[in-house]
Amino acid sequence: MLLLDRIQHQAHAVDSLRAAWERGRLAHAYLFWGPEGVGKMRTAQAVSQMVLCTASAPPCGECRACGKAVRFTHPDQILVAPPPREGADAWHKALEAYGQDSYHCWQAPPNASIGIERIRGLKTESSMARVEKGNRMVIIREAERMTPEAAQAALKLIEEPGDGTYLVLTSRDPERLLPTILSRCQRLRFRPLPRAFLEERLAEHDVPARMLAALAQGSLSRALAMLEEDVVALRDQTIALFAPGLRSPAEVRAHLPRGRAWDAARAQISVDLLMMWYEDLLLLRHGLPEDLVTHADRLNDLRLRAQDISLPEIRRRCDIVEELLQAIRQNVGPLLALETALLRLNRLAGEEDLF
Ligand SMILES: [Zn+2]
Repeated sequence: MLLLDRIQHQAHAVDSLRAAWERGRLAHAYLFWGPEGVGKMRTAQAVSQMVLCTASAPPCGECRACGKAVRFTHPDQILVAPPPREGADAWHKALEAYGQDSYHCWQAPPNASIGIERIRGLKTESSMARVEKGNRMVIIREAERMTPEAAQAALKLIEEPGDGTYLVLTSRDPERLLPTILSRCQRLRFRPLPRAFLEERLAEHDVPARMLAALAQGSLSRALAMLEEDVVALRDQTIALFAPGLRSPAEVRAHLPRGRAWDAARAQISVDLLMMWYEDLLLLRHGLPEDLVTHADRLNDLRLRAQDISLPEIRRRCDIVEELLQAIRQNVGPLLALETALLRLNRLAGEEDLF
């Protein structure tokens, strides 16, 4: 399997790599940057095939080395990444899952980092004799999670990689990398994936594909992670909560969700879904085609609601929801932010200065 031919919707990065390879000018250190779940790791594996392939016209996609590069079993391909949630055993499983599908969600805990020992180990591994053809590929995933000491050590490796050693760093947040690392890597930007492509991939599962694709904001791994959440139930609960009719602050408080139902991550999904609901209402009120709505499975409810809500009222609600979203992003306690939004929505509190 020749990976470079299979990477979709990243033409700029793929074309640059292909051209560099054909001219014999592949850089020794690349930084692939862009959102999660858009193909950075898959492209790094494609570079592994270029440099590790043993065919006469590499990369062939057919030889043993090419196959091993895809499955992460090539001895001269080294992956460095923040450790996944469940420790060493999980690392092995994550690699295996990645080998089968490079859009597999690899979730490292938010505070996991890449320490100096790992980068030092890398330098030792790089100085050892090559097991196969002669080149070596090092991939540092989520490079912004290197500790300052690890980043300094990585910088030395980037400056003097040694003959036949190629590095690819990936990052969703390159501003957190050392400027010296940024300036010494050839940078390639990866873009969010088109919604239609995500919808197509999600259609293989029994889920409201359009809604999840809209939520995923261009990231296939985010879209696939969403399969684990009961997004439909979350959406329905949120829309019910925001239906008008709560009559007092006490009643608002009694309706607030409990426990993990409204933790920061789920709150953000809920509010995104709610915003799409109001966008659907706007679309219907403006008489646009019904097949454009995101919440297609609730088209009847949308039609009914669109009949009795005015355009200024939809806009007022969009403003409140937008501010709620911002409050959640700024780490205001999600429940407090929700309570404030519900009070405003039901006109139980002033419209100004609440956030
Ligand atoms: Zn090959």
